Amino acid sequence: MDKVKTRFAPSPTGMMHIGSVRTALYAYLVARQHGGTFSLRIEDTDRNRFVPEAAEDIVQNMKWLGLNFDEQPVVQSERKDLYVKYAKELIEKGAAYEQDSAIWFKMPKEGKVGFVDLIGNRKVTFNLSDQKDFVLLKSDGFPTYHLAHVVDDHLMGTNPVIRADEWLPSIPKHVLTFQAFGWEVPQYAHLPLILGSDRSKLSKRHGAKGVSEFHQDGFLPEAILNYMALLGWTPPDGKEVISLDEMVKTFDLKSVHSTPAVFDLTKLEWMNGEYIRKMSDEELTKRLQEFLVDHPNKDKIAPLVPLVKERIKKLSDFIPLTDFIWEKPEYDVEVFKKIKLNDLDIKDVLNKIAYKLEEIKKPWKDKEFEKAFRQLAKELDVPAGNVFQLIRVAVSGQLVTPPLFESIKIIGEDETLNRVREVISQFPNFS
Ligand code: GLU
Repeated sequence: MDKVKTRFAPSPTGMMHIGSVRTALYAYLVARQHGGTFSLRIEDTDRNRFVPEAAEDIVQNMKWLGLNFDEQPVVQSERKDLYVKYAKELIEKGAAYEQDSAIWFKMPKEGKVGFVDLIGNRKVTFNLSDQKDFVLLKSDGFPTYHLAHVVDDHLMGTNPVIRADEWLPSIPKHVLTFQAFGWEVPQYAHLPLILGSDRSKLSKRHGAKGVSEFHQDGFLPEAILNYMALLGWTPPDGKEVISLDEMVKTFDLKSVHSTPAVFDLTKLEWMNGEYIRKMSDEELTKRLQEFLVDHPNKDKIAPLVPLVKERIKKLSDFIPLTDFIWEKPEYDVEVFKKIKLNDLDIKDVLNKIAYKLEEIKKPWKDKEFEKAFRQLAKELDVPAGNVFQLIRVAVSGQLVTPPLFESIKIIGEDETLNRVREVISQFPNFS
């Protein structure tokens, strides 16, 4: 077999979408596992739908995802003359003609085009009597996708062509154009659709948005790649959490399913959480610091990382979980009322807590802290957990936090006591 060359060829008509990550990834995997090359081609020939920032967004996201391409991206709008030359060549060959300042491909009207797709070994036959002539070069001088695809994938030596299923109906156009030039037709793999959870077309409603938005939401590139790989492919041993390197070893284009896959945001979030938990504390600290670029306390987060690791699914979850560490929380009396204290007066209990806190020798030690409040709970005849819960709400304003004592150690003894006192003065009678 000739050298394997694949490419990802998005149209910059919008920001890079999560769905297209799968197309890019499969093309990347095929190239890497055969020691071939992987390229990026920006298909910006539809000037009406062109979005100037989109090409840069695609390049940045490919880098962020780690889908490194081997050469400088091929940008079609920079190669206009090339397509004009090739369109004219087809006129000379008698396969095309000019009309209304556009160049059209002359489709044969008889016979069939047979073709086998690499996905599912699907055999498809098209009757040429159903086909019409089509535009190769538009009157604005830009090529259509049909011409640009054939010229570029020939010149780039692409094989196999990996693209979305929506292009399957255009196969007769492409096969006949390759043949009209006298060029070898590459193999094709048309990837099945990705649907939303209700099996309708994937959209924002299903939580499917731009790759950059997932980045901003705190998703990790490796989790996105891993999850998207599973939309249409099952790793050989059924193991769902699989690294990019392992995918390169085990991916098989021929085993990609030919039926549509369903995008499930909850599963992607679960996958992201798995990657967070697998990371070393050092690595997670680094990733969080990169993510929290503008966070004023990002250099102080290291001690918190082991405390939150089991509790976050996305890097962004770190923020609401730890805000109280850096800033005094806003208190809501209703949250205090959720704690069961056998009709004891909340304020009385808080006063007793403040008194104990003053009593415990500084710096506070885990064991002594625990002992002091277990004893208080006993005196008050309420479960110890509820007393700790009251302390938790008094220092954080919330019912769920990272482990209490460790959090308090970061907040500091004085600030902890201040917060308890502040609650007492803010709510004179807790009603
Ligand atoms: N620009 C086309 C698209 O985004 C690319 C198809 C291809 O990979 O050839 O649908």
